[in-house]
Amino acid sequence: MTLSTTDPRAALIGVYRTPDVLFVRGDGTDLIDDTGRRYLDFTSGIGVNALGHGHPVILEAIERALETGLIHASNLFRTAPAEELARILTRLSGLDRVFFCNSGAESVEGALKFAKKWAKLRGGDDKHRIVAFSRSFHGRLWGSLAVTDRPDYRRPFEPLMPGAVFVDPTDLEAVSATLDPDLTAAVILEPIQGEGGIRFLGDDLLRTVREWTRERGIALILDEVQCGLGRAGTLFAHQSAEIRPDLLCLAKPLGGGLPMGAVLASAEIADAMSPGDHGTTFGGGPLVSAVAIAVVETVSQPGFLAEVVRKGAHLHALLEELRSRYPSTVREVRGRGLIWGIDLMEPAAPVVAGARDAGLLTVPAGSHVVRLLPPLTVSDTEIERAVSILEEVLA
Ligand code: PLP
Repeated sequence: MTLSTTDPRAALIGVYRTPDVLFVRGDGTDLIDDTGRRYLDFTSGIGVNALGHGHPVILEAIERALETGLIHASNLFRTAPAEELARILTRLSGLDRVFFCNSGAESVEGALKFAKKWAKLRGGDDKHRIVAFSRSFHGRLWGSLAVTDRPDYRRPFEPLMPGAVFVDPTDLEAVSATLDPDLTAAVILEPIQGEGGIRFLGDDLLRTVREWTRERGIALILDEVQCGLGRAGTLFAHQSAEIRPDLLCLAKPLGGGLPMGAVLASAEIADAMSPGDHGTTFGGGPLVSAVAIAVVETVSQPGFLAEVVRKGAHLHALLEELRSRYPSTVREVRGRGLIWGIDLMEPAAPVVAGARDAGLLTVPAGSHVVRLLPPLTVSDTEIERAVSILEEVLA
């Protein structure tokens, strides 16, 4: 996309289709543009701002961290916030060790490397296949794009990482056939597929894949970059299936709006990694880790999660009413907690644009799904206003 040289966006590489709205402030669920107009932000920066904009818990954590003057020291040295955050995340997840990084795609890249190293030690060079599911989205870097089932995102950059295989999660026979213990290093899946249209894969499937991967010595990587950390109404989306993965990818909400990702690993997989096998300059810096501690301590409170479930049920009920009033436009509403998709009979982009013009920010998930990712702190009244704006646009 080429913009006129007088367009203020002209010096940016044109990989985003940004509308011509300039945001200058955030306030709770609202984003405010340079004319002072308020928009209800039901994107949360694509699932990042779990506590909304300008939440005191985050601002105070940033202020306290800044008082130390220690923003970055690199992983050459120890700093306390990363060590404390790793202790908190391992306690909450039941996993044993953490590697910090800077984004979702980077956490997936890390998990793929960890799984591959572990598998190579167990099964040699042939055990390098990575099984991913149809409609998956795991990021846009080399490995994460290779396990992302979006031909339009992949094709311009092929060949990607070899060994990725896609399988339809509803075809259990095919899933089982790909899980060859001699060839397969890992399975990667999103318990709730985000970009693929807000599709919960189901507790039964999660349990089956967990059982098969355990029996066959294959690593199970869960990508909870979007659905993790409270969004699904449980701290981790896989908790409803009562399983423990071998690797868990987190990012988006973790850093409270600052870039942060994490790979959580079982001791067995972590032990396969040696100094020099992986690394990052920025990951787990003291400022972002201090903010992440505040985020995780807030979203993991049982009372906070109970509210996500309650508000999610309210949003769901309103969306079902919307579907019943517009049966020829709305095919289905899907989701859990505060991650919802409105599957339309028509393209989502005009509805997203219309809602934005009417003061509600949403984000498409694939071509026909309008995705709602409000902050987990959203109020009932804001939910009601958002759904009435959607109704205006669909009418
Ligand atoms: N995994 C999932 C499930 C995601 O939804 C995303 C981003 O939307 C990613 C990975 C990639 O995260 P990032 O954009 O931070 O690289």
